[in-house]
Amino acid sequence: MSHSFISRCRTQCVHVGDVVIGGGAPVVVQSMTNTDTADAEGTARQVYELAQAGSELVRITVNTSEAAVQVPRIRKMLDDMGCAVPLIGDFHYNGHRLLTEFPECAQALAKYRINPGNVGKNRKGEDQFAMMIAVARQYDKPVRIGVNWGSLDQDLVARLMDENAKLAQPKEVAGITREALIVSALDSAKRAEELGLPHDRIVLSCKVSDVQDLIAVYRELAQRCDYPLHLGLTEAGMGSKGIVASTAALAVLLQQGIGDTIRVSLTPAPGGARTDEVVVAQEILQTMGLRSFAPMVTACPGCGRTTSTVFQELAQDIQNHLRAQMPVWREQYTGVEEMTVAVMGCIVNGPGESKLANIGISLPGTGESPAAPVYADGEKVTTLRGDHIAEEFTRIVNEYVARKYARK
Ligand code: SF4
Repeated sequence: MSHSFISRCRTQCVHVGDVVIGGGAPVVVQSMTNTDTADAEGTARQVYELAQAGSELVRITVNTSEAAVQVPRIRKMLDDMGCAVPLIGDFHYNGHRLLTEFPECAQALAKYRINPGNVGKNRKGEDQFAMMIAVARQYDKPVRIGVNWGSLDQDLVARLMDENAKLAQPKEVAGITREALIVSALDSAKRAEELGLPHDRIVLSCKVSDVQDLIAVYRELAQRCDYPLHLGLTEAGMGSKGIVASTAALAVLLQQGIGDTIRVSLTPAPGGARTDEVVVAQEILQTMGLRSFAPMVTACPGCGRTTSTVFQELAQDIQNHLRAQMPVWREQYTGVEEMTVAVMGCIVNGPGESKLANIGISLPGTGESPAAPVYADGEKVTTLRGDHIAEEFTRIVNEYVARKYARK
């Protein structure tokens, strides 16, 4: 399912390995590791987990010689695991040195992220930026010019502030800072092209941590260039705050056809899964009808008619089961990612929602007879009773998938 009314064709397309960003291609989900890249085994493991969860590009930090030297090993380990996900190198301060001193690292990466605010100042910064672009040209790699509010070039901000102060009607300060982000990205992209990097090897991003600022910056950026845009609310935060803020910002832009690849920058809870950021990014795109990644569960919130936790447990178990099966189902079945499953708490809306889903179950609410009718493609197919409703419903879902989505 994809909504054609949202046009995303105004950008150039950029190839990152086998993945296409922009030019009307489906919005790409990416993520970033939080392991020490010098720990090759740990990093390869996390990249693999992120890719298995559905991340189509994975960024790793390349911050030291020890990290750079491990990048080709990480690539090799992933290839040996049958994981072809392109790796993006995140460079700050010393990227020029690492990319030139470790050619195998430069070769193993599929894209380089360059932060113009962290390449150095003045002539030295220009030279270091040029060194990174030269490596990108040498190995025919695309780059993302990734500007970030927290590391914005302060000389540029000061220059724009001075120019603004001389105007008869100066603009507000926040507007100047936003403009500085955009100018930093566009000027750096222009400079990269002057240095010989092809136009279709550049992706841009201008990340900020405020929702309204992000929307304003990207709307403006989309007007002023045709580079594919990487969207993300930086430092979105933890838990529901991070999810809600990211969704609010990204949804507004995606609905306007702005954004060719996204990342959700969640802070994991201690011990939490890094893959959560991939799940949230996919769910943003899927709930907006832009892409489908995994079957989605429709569940009612429950109310006074659901006094036990059976219904919540079943909804959670089924959602976890569907996600866990996807790496296998993706290979075996066609279209299974578009399946909808309803898990409902009582007779009030249960049968209705269950009939609208591909497959659904209406559990008995308080006072109802202990029976759970199951519906498939709008028809009642069986009624479950007893202590093993969850297991039986899971089996019925598996059988439905095998029957309905088997490759012809
Ligand atoms: S379907 Fe039933 S249990 Fe669920 S919210 Fe509605 S009335 Fe409550």
